Amino acid sequence: TTHAAARDRYDRMAYRRAGRSGLDLPALSLGLWQKFGTDYAYETQREIILHAFDLGITHFDNADRYGPPHRAAQQVFGRVLARDLAPYRDELVLSTKAGNPIGPSPYLRGGSRKSLLNSLDHSLRDLGTDYVDVFYHHRADPSTPLEETASALADAVRQGKALYAGVSNYTPEQAHAIAELLRVQRVPLLVHQPRYSVFDRTPELSGLLDTAAADGFGLVVYSPLAQGLLTDKYLQGIPAGARAENSAFLSPDAIDAVYRERAAALNALAQGRGQSLAQLALQWVLRRPEVTSALIGASSTWQLDHNVKALDFPPLTDDELKLIDEHGVH
Ligand code: NDP
Repeated sequence: TTHAAARDRYDRMAYRRAGRSGLDLPALSLGLWQKFGTDYAYETQREIILHAFDLGITHFDNADRYGPPHRAAQQVFGRVLARDLAPYRDELVLSTKAGNPIGPSPYLRGGSRKSLLNSLDHSLRDLGTDYVDVFYHHRADPSTPLEETASALADAVRQGKALYAGVSNYTPEQAHAIAELLRVQRVPLLVHQPRYSVFDRTPELSGLLDTAAADGFGLVVYSPLAQGLLTDKYLQGIPAGARAENSAFLSPDAIDAVYRERAAALNALAQGRGQSLAQLALQWVLRRPEVTSALIGASSTWQLDHNVKALDFPPLTDDELKLIDEHGVH
């Protein structure tokens, strides 16, 4: 049977404007980077995607790379879209990315027009949709003229294959430069996707938050839970099935004595506020107006329910922010 979306799905989620655009994104978005490949059960993946939408999470983030194998996560999403979410396509903001290597060919990486537009066509086929809402360049490619990358993104929009353009993992200087090029093309840069969390302050230190405000693009920040390190799950070791146990991207070595001390201190601070560390960590990135959405992963519907409750707590006070700075930075 197909899925009927919850009638109250817009009642609790907060929506935030992406920079100086007309587009609102949910405060929390769901990414399909991990646990949406062929190595996990399709029915669980479907349940998580549908539950997210029922919670008002309208924005789903993909990339040609996500799996394993590459492209599998988009095929999973495509199955769910065809079977369950097709009637709601207008209510979804789907994003995809290209430019991180997905194979040995020189046309399966980088920032060339060929790589980007070929990948986008594949992604549209995998997702089973005529257009994505946001098409991202996944990481800067200094070996390709930025004009070529900007034109490819703008042409994807002009061809109707994407509604908006984005970039990811660009420095503030690179982001400003492509924002200027895209402005001239009349396809303004909608969003930038950097990593940002209590444990990774790079967007503050590099000036990216300021660039976003000045150039008018929003930030969709990834790994706001530091892949799960900013939750209470690793305080007593590594639970079975957790990412640190079975992912190439999070080593068990990350769970060391220094980590445990920092996480325990942050956890105590969260408990004092009547919330969990995960909820505190999500509120923390969302305290900044430059941040449009916190882009989370999930391996269960419980995690989604739990994380969405982050939006119900009072703002962090200046004293709490100071304590988080003391515990969150090496
Ligand atoms: P998070 O920091 O939100 O980590 C999510 C993971 O933490 C979950 O998959 C789950 O892992 C665990 N988790 C989540 N909530 C809880 C909870 N309440 N209690 C305990 N554990 C919890 O983000 P991700 O690192 O997954 O990244 C999110 C998205 O960002 C990606 O899917 C992708 O779309 C995007 N991204 C983009 C990149 C880029 O280069 N542009 C790079 C990386 C990510 P588990 O249960 O498996 O342990």
